[in-house]
Amino acid sequence: MTDRYAVFGHPIAHSKSPQIHAAFARQTGQDMTYEAILAPLDGFAECVAQFMAADGRGANVTVPFKEEAYKLAQRLSPRAQRAGAVNTLSFDADGILGDNTDGAGLVADLTRNLHQTLGGKRILLLGAGGAARGVIEPLLDQQPAAFVIANRTVSRAQELADLFGHGITACSFEAADTPFDIVINATAASLAGELPPLSPRIFTDNTLAYDMMYGRDTPFLSFARTNGASATSDGLGMLIEQAAEAFFVWRGERPETAAVIAALRS
Ligand code: NDP
Repeated sequence: MTDRYAVFGHPIAHSKSPQIHAAFARQTGQDMTYEAILAPLDGFAECVAQFMAADGRGANVTVPFKEEAYKLAQRLSPRAQRAGAVNTLSFDADGILGDNTDGAGLVADLTRNLHQTLGGKRILLLGAGGAARGVIEPLLDQQPAAFVIANRTVSRAQELADLFGHGITACSFEAADTPFDIVINATAASLAGELPPLSPRIFTDNTLAYDMMYGRDTPFLSFARTNGASATSDGLGMLIEQAAEAFFVWRGERPETAAVIAALRS
C-alpha cells in the first residue's frame, strides 16, 4: 500500500513541500504520497488524529503549529526536545514521535549551498517562534562570535536567550542596531508582506540577509538590499534541506537536494 504523508499549516496553499517530497520519492523510488492540509487554527490536534486514522505515516508541521506539535508528540528526538518545537511527526504503533529538522536544514543551506562559514561570525536572528527555536542550537553549534535574538515580543526572545544560554542577547527589533555578518528573518512578518521595524545599521557590505520565507521577494530582503547587504537569500534552500532531513527520518534514505533546489528555482 502507498504510504501517506502530509504537511499541516495555516495558511498552507503556498507550500512547496508536496512538490519537494514528490521529487525525493521519484529520485529514491519510494512508494508514497504527500499532500498539503489546511488545519483550522483551533483544530490542529483533531486534524492530525484524522490523518493518522486514515493510515498517515508521518507529517510535517508549519506555521503556526510547531509548538502545538511539540506538545502533541508522545516521544521527542533530542533535537526536538531542546528546540521545544516540532516540524516532523512520525506515526507508529507506539504513537507520535516528534522531531525538528529546521535547524539542520538552515545550517546545511547556509554552509553547503551558500558557502557561509558561521564560526566567529556575528549572527542576528529575528523572531522567537517555532522556526527560531528550532535553529538556535544548530547555529550555536557552529560557534558564532555573537548571537542576538530580536523579537516583537521581547519577553519571548529573552525566554529563548535564557533557555539556550551561551551569552545570547535578547532585544527588540529597534534595539539591534550594530552591524551583523548574517541576519536571519525567522518572523512570520514576510508571510503578511510586512517588515519588522529594523535599523538599517545591521547591514554592511559583508552581510548575508536570509529570509526563511520563500517563493517571493520580501520587504525584508528588499530593505536589506537597499541598505547595503552584500548578499540575500530566501528560505527555499532551507525548506528543501529540512525536507531532505525529514525524508531521511521517515524513509531512511537521504535524497540529493541540489537538483531539486535548481528545479524549484527555475
Ligand atoms: P510562529 O508563528 O511560531 O512565530 C512567528 C514569529 O514571527 C514570532 O516571533 C512573532 O513575534 C513574529 N511575528 C509575526 N508577525 C510579525 C510581524 N508582523 N512583525 C514582526 N514579527 C512578527 O511562526 P514560525 O516560527 O513557525 O515561522 C516563521 C516564518 O518562518 C514563517 O514565515 C515560515 O514560513 C518560515 N519558515 C520557513 C522555513 C523554511 O524551511 N524555509 C522553515 C520554518 C519556518 P511575536 O512573538 O511577537 O508574536
